[in-house]
Amino acid sequence: MYDSNLGDFTLVNYDNTPPGVNFTATNKGKGLRISFDSNVYNVSGGDLTGTYTTVQFHLHWGSSNDKGSEHTVDGVMYPAEIHFVSYNTKYPDIVESLSHSDGLAVLGVFLQVGSNENQAYKKFLDQISYVKNMSGDEIKFSAFPLMSLLPTEKTKYYRYPGSLTTPGCQEAVTWTVFKDPVEISQAQLDVLRMMKYNDTVNIVNNYRPVQMLSNREVKASFGMITTAPPVTRTAPPVTTVAPSVTTAASSVTMAAPSVTTDGVALKISNVVLVLALFLGAAFFN
Ligand SMILES: [Zn+2]
Repeated sequence: MYDSNLGDFTLVNYDNTPPGVNFTATNKGKGLRISFDSNVYNVSGGDLTGTYTTVQFHLHWGSSNDKGSEHTVDGVMYPAEIHFVSYNTKYPDIVESLSHSDGLAVLGVFLQVGSNENQAYKKFLDQISYVKNMSGDEIKFSAFPLMSLLPTEKTKYYRYPGSLTTPGCQEAVTWTVFKDPVEISQAQLDVLRMMKYNDTVNIVNNYRPVQMLSNREVKASFGMITTAPPVTRTAPPVTTVAPSVTTAASSVTMAAPSVTTDGVALKISNVVLVLALFLGAAFFN
């Protein structure tokens, strides 16, 4: 649903490299996390309540290019997604902010595979060689502008309130997912997939049950097409041989004009949505 309150973000220091700031890369078994001091990079606007300070970003990815993102739009799943985690500066730290509904704000960006190496993403993906194996090890490296990791178009995004991606957490997150994806190369995606839990197991599919963004409980800062999701297109064609009357009758739904088909598809998508929400709730409780 379009919501005119979802205006532009103010991103303080996102396009700078403030002196004295370093980034720290770690692999604690959930993937790659890049963290930094609070109160350097701040996020406000975008209908957020207050100012949030960004303290880390991390990524989710799949074992193949058809999965990996934590959100889908009209059934489309991206091979990876990056999350910028900020907590509300009205609270003293991130731990305290976890127990408040306005405690955290996460900015999410879809990643898709393009033909070119992404030079901004290279700056932190190069650190994976130091933290490829899960351990307590950290590697410090030079900060660079966070803005370079975001899509150029930052006024178009989805918004919903939701839970943290890790089990046991409260409904403390205001989610923003930008509409436009950012491209990285296949080789860069493959580097993520080389990260390891241990000697034999790679870290892949480190995403939670998918949250669909093309449903009515999600707001958008831009006008959305409200047609049924592409689930419809998976309905089998009716042209197959149907010698018996029964078979033909049961196929009628699929053969019906597009209006009816859309109706059926909408019901299907609602069922899927409810199921997804149910699974999500079960997963985190
Ligand atoms: Zn995440």
